[in-house]
Amino acid sequence: MIEYYKKPSIWPGVKRVLLDMKDNIFWMVRNGKKVFFWHDHWISESTLADQVPGNDTNNIVTVDQVLHDGEWTIPDNLKIMFQNMGIVFDLVLTDTTAEDECFWKPDSRGRFTTKPAFNEVRHKLPKVWWYSLVWKIPLMPKYSNFGWRLMHNALPTDSELQYRGITTVTCCHFCKKGPKTISHVFWHCEWATAIRDWGIQLFTLNGGITNF
Ligand SMILES: [Zn+2]
Repeated sequence: MIEYYKKPSIWPGVKRVLLDMKDNIFWMVRNGKKVFFWHDHWISESTLADQVPGNDTNNIVTVDQVLHDGEWTIPDNLKIMFQNMGIVFDLVLTDTTAEDECFWKPDSRGRFTTKPAFNEVRHKLPKVWWYSLVWKIPLMPKYSNFGWRLMHNALPTDSELQYRGITTVTCCHFCKKGPKTISHVFWHCEWATAIRDWGIQLFTLNGGITNF
């Protein structure tokens, strides 16, 4: 029996990306069956829900619900409100025999490709000063990747696994005295200290490397 609930760590991130993705998609309405009336971008740059907050609680879900045989059947109260806002539904060229099409706004031709899409939705943080030490030197990608994950506390150490809800006993394999955390294994363990001192002597790193 499940006795506790642990908040998923991935889903909030997926939801954020989905929202960002949605903001970059523009729909060309044809039969209106796939397009959400209030929450998709289809008649103007922003969604209708963003333009008239609080009105999306009525029964209209998809565009085809207010489109019959090519004629718009917007309820009168909404029609007047949209007219006053300058939103003209008759300018949307519909076609009940065709499927709605969506376009990726950042691309001039509306084509969706994963690389620019990823760059569009990812949240860039300022570059850290040690960026070039990890990525700009002739190093095998797997070592650059390891260094990057190390500096971001993203290695699957016991403590990280415990933090993510996986039960495990944590003990440093080298000294058997401390926990298997990144700070212990790479900085505070006597083995790490010995290897680091040896490396500093070997490569004559005068400033040391403890100020990371
Ligand atoms: Zn240790």
